[in-house]
Amino acid sequence: MTVGLTRREALMTAGASALALALPGFAPSRGVASGTRVDVAGAGLSGLACALVLVQAGVDVRVWEARDRLGGRTLTDTSLVPGRWVECGGEFIDADHSAIRRLCSESGVTLQDLAAVDESGVARNLVGGRVREGGWADESSERLAQRAARDLQRLGEDRLNAMSAAEWLRGAIPGGTGSPFARYQRALTTGEYGADPSALTALWVVTDLADGAGANEMADSAERYRVNGGTRNLVAALEKRVGVERIVRGTRLTGLVREGSRPALLLTGSDGPRVERPDRAVITLSPGVLRTVNLSRSGFSTPTREVIRTYGMGTNAKVIIPFSSAAWGAHGWDAEGVSDTALGQTWNSALGEGAGSTAFTSLVGGIAGRTIAGPDHGPAPGSIVQARLALIDRVAPGTRAAARDGAVVHAWAKDPYARGSYSAARPGQADYATIAARPQGPFHFAGEHTSDEWSGFMEGAVQSGQRVAREVLARL
Ligand SMILES: Cc1cc2nc3c(=O)[nH]c(=O)nc-3n(C[C@H](O)[C@H](O)[C@H](O)COP(=O)(O)OP(=O)(O)OC[C@H]3O[C@@H](n4cnc5c(N)ncnc54)[C@H](O)[C@@H]3O)c2cc1C
Repeated sequence: MTVGLTRREALMTAGASALALALPGFAPSRGVASGTRVDVAGAGLSGLACALVLVQAGVDVRVWEARDRLGGRTLTDTSLVPGRWVECGGEFIDADHSAIRRLCSESGVTLQDLAAVDESGVARNLVGGRVREGGWADESSERLAQRAARDLQRLGEDRLNAMSAAEWLRGAIPGGTGSPFARYQRALTTGEYGADPSALTALWVVTDLADGAGANEMADSAERYRVNGGTRNLVAALEKRVGVERIVRGTRLTGLVREGSRPALLLTGSDGPRVERPDRAVITLSPGVLRTVNLSRSGFSTPTREVIRTYGMGTNAKVIIPFSSAAWGAHGWDAEGVSDTALGQTWNSALGEGAGSTAFTSLVGGIAGRTIAGPDHGPAPGSIVQARLALIDRVAPGTRAAARDGAVVHAWAKDPYARGSYSAARPGQADYATIAARPQGPFHFAGEHTSDEWSGFMEGAVQSGQRVAREVLARL
């Protein structure tokens, strides 16, 4: 988000540029000299979206990926529940996430429309030790949204940027900070942004609340879609379109060196260290991961280094528990809810995928996500599963009887190639996405953290990849 623009204005500006990119026949203004080589570090959605545009423009592209799989912070599990897909990272797509929706459609990947899914039961929130039926779309939410709109005008963006979300909520929350609504709002904010409100700029929360979308009550368009069969289908389609021969797995970027006008990438793979010297390089690693890369000879500016050193990241973790059926439905609950307990935000992981076996997702952020027991990705320790099952039974007594063994945890803050879930600007960092997007000599930057308007989202990753491809083409 740009300080000086409201989030809505930023969105409109961004929408215009995304549209320009999407125009059929989009091509660089000048022809690309044959043999021009651009290397992309990271094969998440931003790296793949960028590589695709470059390949289509005739550039010689290499994509270097540290992991043995592509997709980065998107990860679909198809073995937890036979015949179902569950998302361990990025999952929902809003109706106005036009770049990723277009990319899916061009890639032959369909979307699952959750608005068409008929679920039995209603949302329930377990807050302050009590279960509350339905969402929280009541007077308190409306008053908070109105207060946010007023404060945006009254305090201005700079003051809100400097303030933490916790500080703002303390003064703005109807009913005082100890009220059930305050607990609900803190739990919702922590889950949505991935960071504790004390470590998050108030500007993000206030603008989202004032827009009436996202952070508080979901607008109809929010979280409307999922990728049919899982995000892995989009990743596989992009891999094919980019060209499997152009993507190298298991090769880690360890250093960036600026050699005059050219970049040098220091890489380490199974065959040892190597140096690649393309014409330009696109770096899509999140700031947390870039901190582990040797940048001493990169020639990066002080503001860019500062962003890499300090930009906040959410620490979301998902615990996904398989169930033999959506047993909560029989008890009047649709599995959706927000809780100030270990449950965090919850939903049916295989929503709309058919009757029978399914799974239950519990998403936590902030300190709870950072310190959750277990591996980065793998079997969930019994203690965290049992704690959740006990809480699920408080919301819908009897449900836990349908739980199966084999629950998994995905703690993205522990993942060495993610080091967090998605960017979450700390107080004073609301313009960091803009700074993170600035090219540094022959180095260009993409990734959700460089997206002004959709940072944190798959949409931001895709838009940033397409933006940076255009930026590179303009300079070749
Ligand atoms: C739990 C969770 C829930 C989420 N929910 C949603 C959601 O519902 N909707 C939504 O829109 N978004 C969601 N997101 C966010 C979304 O997944 C991300 O914004 C998006 O996938 C980021 O893509 P990216 O290309 O910017 O980064 P990444 O996917 O991180 O791509 C960077 C790539 O670089 C690779 N890499 C790392 N280090 C190196 C190295 N040294 N050398 C080479 N390669 C390296 C990584 O392995 C990765 O493949 C969620 C994320 C998480 C974790």
